[in-house]
Amino acid sequence: MPKAIQIDQHGGPEVLKFVDVDVAAPGPDEVRIRQHAIGLNYIDTYYRTGLYPSPLPHGLGFEGAGVVEEVGASVKRLKVGDRVAYGQSPLGAYAEVRNVPAHQLVKLPSWISFEQAAASMLKGLTTQYLFRQTYRLQGDETILFHAAAGGVGLFACQWARALGVKLIGTVSSPEKAKLAREHGAWETIDYSHENVAERVLELTGGKKVPVVYDGVGKDTWEASLDSVQARGLVVSFGNASGPVTGVNLGILAQKGSIYVTRPTLGTHVATAEKLQAAADELFGLIKSKDIVVQIDQRFPLSQAAEAHRALESRKTTGSTIFTLD
Ligand code: NDP
Repeated sequence: MPKAIQIDQHGGPEVLKFVDVDVAAPGPDEVRIRQHAIGLNYIDTYYRTGLYPSPLPHGLGFEGAGVVEEVGASVKRLKVGDRVAYGQSPLGAYAEVRNVPAHQLVKLPSWISFEQAAASMLKGLTTQYLFRQTYRLQGDETILFHAAAGGVGLFACQWARALGVKLIGTVSSPEKAKLAREHGAWETIDYSHENVAERVLELTGGKKVPVVYDGVGKDTWEASLDSVQARGLVVSFGNASGPVTGVNLGILAQKGSIYVTRPTLGTHVATAEKLQAAADELFGLIKSKDIVVQIDQRFPLSQAAEAHRALESRKTTGSTIFTLD
């Protein structure tokens, strides 16, 4: 029987159980995939803890790559043997074999490996929508991006460099600062001991930035509001330090008519066409080597709990994948 990670209660990494699972035949619009690599993402920890609630028991994970084993009766675009990947799916990517709705899959170009795809579909497509849809960067801008040495962070550093955008990245150590710079960050701020808003003011000659991308949440929210220009945009897209709650909207007026948005990847790749367009842009940058997919950690799927501990204790950099072979 195929194996998968399941949880039957919310909690710490110890609730992740590596168990035998029965995988049903794919529904009419689904495809059954034998997976070769799976991506770890911070969002997986939110579902594990229950911060994002889902009825128990359930699997975990949204990102993976593998080979089509069976297609549902209505699926025309894909066939058995196709190499495919996804970064947005029903919960359950932490599995050897699984079913995914066909419209959430892209066919992989031959030059991209399963590991590269599983490390970039969620993080790279997130960077695509953040930089090209939520606030369309043009180049010649200076922006602030939190957790710049993380999974999404290293895509963001490289994508910004490719666009000619100066990315100021926050990090928590000198090693992470070096990594972010090597991947294209223009400047870094170590938010473990530097004042982010003051440094942004210095680095921008008093102008601040037109857009802040904040996946850290609770701990950086205030600094984000203080770093953005009047009528600028704060894109709050994650909660690595905890969710932002209890905001008095009046603060946006006080800081200068600030805009705030809280986007998700799912709403940006909701159709096969939108997903393909975003993936084409991402794959183009990987092919041209403007973006190198940085896989810094690999764990066997059976050790998913260890991977969660590493991610939550800020020990990881770049992408982390689960291996299956
Ligand atoms: P990362 O690899 O970036 O890991 C999170 C990083 O956040 C850590 O490495 C750490 O970097 C930083 N961090 C700051 N404070 C804390 C804290 N208290 N505990 C743990 N980490 C902290 O994760 P991902 O690339 O998977 O995701 C980054 C963020 O983007 C997450 O919040 C995630 O939920 C969000 N996201 C949102 C999406 C959306 O569509 N809305 C899609 C994809 C991701 P450092 O040590 O340098 O501070």
